[in-house]
Amino acid sequence: MPTLLLCSATDDLSDLHTLFQHEAARCVPGLQVRLWPDMPDPADVEAVAGWYPPAGLMRSLPNLRLASSIAAGVDHVLGPAQPRPEVPVCRIVDPGLAAGMAEYVLWAVLYYHRALDQAQQQQAQRLWKMPAQKAARQTHVGLLGLGVLGSHVARVLRAQGFAVSGWSRSAHAIDGVTAYAGPQTLKAFLREPDVLVCLLPLTDATRGLLNREFLQAMKPGAALVHCGRGEHLVVEDLLQALDQGHLRGAVLDVFAQEPLPASNPLWTHPRVVVTPHMASAAQPAAIVGQILDNLQRVRSGRPVLNAVDRSVGY
Ligand code: NDP
Repeated sequence: MPTLLLCSATDDLSDLHTLFQHEAARCVPGLQVRLWPDMPDPADVEAVAGWYPPAGLMRSLPNLRLASSIAAGVDHVLGPAQPRPEVPVCRIVDPGLAAGMAEYVLWAVLYYHRALDQAQQQQAQRLWKMPAQKAARQTHVGLLGLGVLGSHVARVLRAQGFAVSGWSRSAHAIDGVTAYAGPQTLKAFLREPDVLVCLLPLTDATRGLLNREFLQAMKPGAALVHCGRGEHLVVEDLLQALDQGHLRGAVLDVFAQEPLPASNPLWTHPRVVVTPHMASAAQPAAIVGQILDNLQRVRSGRPVLNAVDRSVGY
């Protein structure tokens, strides 16, 4: 029986499974939806929807026609998990996810712009001292990545009056946003932001990008807000930049190992805010709707939506 296999080696996808079954029964009659490790005959699997699917699983499915991330990022369905080259790999593009990301980034930017970090440190010392108040235009926010999420966040921050610049691989034009493109412009881009936000995908070109040299090129006293992937950041280099006083602080939402181990020094660093990969998530209805739509597109020979370019990894 034609099957969509939902799988994650790390997370419980039972609720999403129930929604997939319900929607498949309504929109794609004859399609069964199974939740790994409850495997059907491998030859029956037409599509895989995954979050960190087990390595090698997709390559073992001879009739696989579609592989989809259940999130915006695709790093976890590429690499050792990736399907054969001819199978399209798609991701979720969801306005609800972009709106949630903009809320999270706006909160983190305001945390520094309105000196809440300073107020918290003062509270620990029972110290009453009003921080200086600046206009939004006096705080410069830099966005690493001007894709679906970065460009939406840029517009939301501009609407709040912040000075905004962005860095991406190719050139972008967004009203009121100073845009930089390509590795040769990175140092110039890093000079200005008071708050730097990472919204890059994890690829061979971006892994480890936020290292010592990068952090030292940031404006002295700047803060980092990291919402990309843990593997972008070299944690020891960040701790050094914080402890040397070069950087003001960091809000970190993503980590190379999640959940972040209890022994990790980031948990207790006085100038680090740790959040549990909660910046934003795709809405379940968008995930299910887009993946079932793409399966029907594959079946009828139409182009899939939100396919990634596997040669660049996003
Ligand atoms: P997109 O693919 O739409 O955008 C990616 C952006 O990064 C593009 O602007 C792209 O440049 C740029 N980029 C990629 N590689 C490079 C490079 N080598 N140098 C410079 N710029 C580069 O992705 P989304 O905006 O949808 O998502 C971004 C990431 O956010 C996801 O991959 C995921 O890792 C993370 N994420 C985190 C969440 C969380 O809760 N913490 C939730 C959702 C996503 P160009 O425009 O030129 O192609």
